[in-house]
Amino acid sequence: MIYKDLGGTGIMIPAIGLGTWQIGGREDPDYSNDNEAINTLETAIEMGYTHIDTAEHYGGGHCEELIGTAIRNFSREKFFIVSKAWPNHLSNIDLPKSVEKSMERLGVDYIDLYLIHWPNPEIPLRETLKTLSDLKKLGIIKNIGVSNFEYPLLKEAVEISSEPIVCDQVLYNIEDREPEPYLLPYCQKNKITLTAYTPLRRLTLTESIRLNLEKIAIRHDVSISQVMLAWLINKENVVAIPKASKFQHMKDNFEAADLILSQEEVQLLDSI
Ligand code: NAP
Repeated sequence: MIYKDLGGTGIMIPAIGLGTWQIGGREDPDYSNDNEAINTLETAIEMGYTHIDTAEHYGGGHCEELIGTAIRNFSREKFFIVSKAWPNHLSNIDLPKSVEKSMERLGVDYIDLYLIHWPNPEIPLRETLKTLSDLKKLGIIKNIGVSNFEYPLLKEAVEISSEPIVCDQVLYNIEDREPEPYLLPYCQKNKITLTAYTPLRRLTLTESIRLNLEKIAIRHDVSISQVMLAWLINKENVVAIPKASKFQHMKDNFEAADLILSQEEVQLLDSI
């Protein structure tokens, strides 16, 4: 596994984390596959995944409960757990409650990285960031970050926040390249980690991009998912959080960190 510095903090985090959206339900809890979900999470942990991405929104909190069950027999320090507050919980009254409830569901007494899941223009960003900073000072969240913040809003958040914003988690993959002109260079310049979500684009790729990926994958005897992930984490300050529930997918993604693309391959992928 490759490790990357989290937002200039010196904390090293795995460049490939585990996404968990739809584990334990979508917006509401789905208890029907609990055994399978816990099995999936335990398998991932045994494989070596320690960076786990979740949110209070996932399965209406049930995803965090399942993660809590899966991690309880391991040492807490092993994990880098990321969770997020939904936009209706960003006030100074609601946010501490969200953090408390997430910790309770996860069965932990701190969260490694806590994010604003989406911006909410109806709640002053200053209020949310002040609350997050206060929670960080209490030690119950170790680092603060944001998600789905475009470049101008991230810049504003960095300027307002008394504690460093160490991460922006955004949509980024071989086809969705919106972060590249402004957000990514800003993150790189300011040592902010850019976490690429939906890094595999749920494998819905246009034909021409798939063909280019396949050519490279065949050359290295790897899957196209591995090429997509290796291309992402090859970039300075970028980490990725693919979601996988099938054993082979999980393994594939974890091992993508071992794939070294040539400069020509990176350039080709950059240009498509
Ligand atoms: P994704 O990771 O791009 O794709 C997941 C899909 O790809 C699953 O159907 C999975 O199948 C399949 N897959 C995974 N590895 C594969 C492989 N090696 N070969 C073939 N298929 C593979 O999409 P995502 O779940 O949207 O994004 C990942 C994570 O990012 C989420 O789970 C969540 O944690 C986070 N996220 C955050 C936000 C945000 O607003 N901050 C938004 C979206 C997502 P199986 O499950 O069947 O293995």
